[in-house]
Amino acid sequence: MELHQDCPECDSEEFYRAASTMVHLGEKVKWRCVDCGYGFVRIDGAVDTSTA
Ligand SMILES: [Zn+2]
Repeated sequence: MELHQDCPECDSEEFYRAASTMVHLGEKVKWRCVDCGYGFVRIDGAVDTSTA
């Protein structure tokens, strides 16, 4: 699975799904930039900035 979003660290707009786990809020998915490795976490589509 892929996600298209501007990376804050480089010019890439492509993220891949690095990991996912089920939490009480829903599905927690870790996305990682294909070019620079920048990662962030989303829970059911909401960005959790604390784990970026
Ligand atoms: Zn990047």
